[in-house]
Amino acid sequence: MGISRRNFLKGGGLAAGTLAVTGKPAHASVDSEQLRTKGLQTSTTVCPYCAVGCGMIVHTKDGKIVNIEGDPQHPINQGSLCSKGSAMFQVANNERRLTKVQYRAKGSDKWEEKSWDWAMQRMAKLMKDTRDRNFVKTEKVGGKEYVVNRNDGMAMIGAAALDNEECYLLGKFARAMGVGYLEHQARI
Ligand code: SF4
Repeated sequence: MGISRRNFLKGGGLAAGTLAVTGKPAHASVDSEQLRTKGLQTSTTVCPYCAVGCGMIVHTKDGKIVNIEGDPQHPINQGSLCSKGSAMFQVANNERRLTKVQYRAKGSDKWEEKSWDWAMQRMAKLMKDTRDRNFVKTEKVGGKEYVVNRNDGMAMIGAAALDNEECYLLGKFARAMGVGYLEHQARI
């Protein structure tokens, strides 16, 4: 369907009016919104910024993000996003976004580019070393010795962008590492 200038202004006015009254995007038949995302691949995600964890819809074309907006079916935000979440598009599509690992060695004043494999290996090694150095096998309480298998040298925190399954896996991983200081951003 073509868009006449009159229809376009009518649609825009309706959307702006509804947004002003309800704070949420309009579901009215606005041609411009349909055209903007027509034929694009759609997937859902969670805003990574704060503990509110608003749901988002991401539209992609040829593997590139072309639009991000609030998910009207998400129980937390029901389609709305704050100004920070609304700007997520600019975080994804930004020529200043880092896409490669940057490493600055201890005492160095330079950043070096490293591979993701290198970074994963290094993180795994440092975590293992920290765990081994701080592992407490048993603890005496009231004269009796208990097996505790606790890692006192490490803490973990889950972020708002994690869904239920990711939180479950993170919790499992933390406990396998003996981590007792386990928290989630939404509780803090
Ligand atoms: S859209 Fe705003 S309120 Fe919602 S999670 Fe992101 S930063 Fe928080």
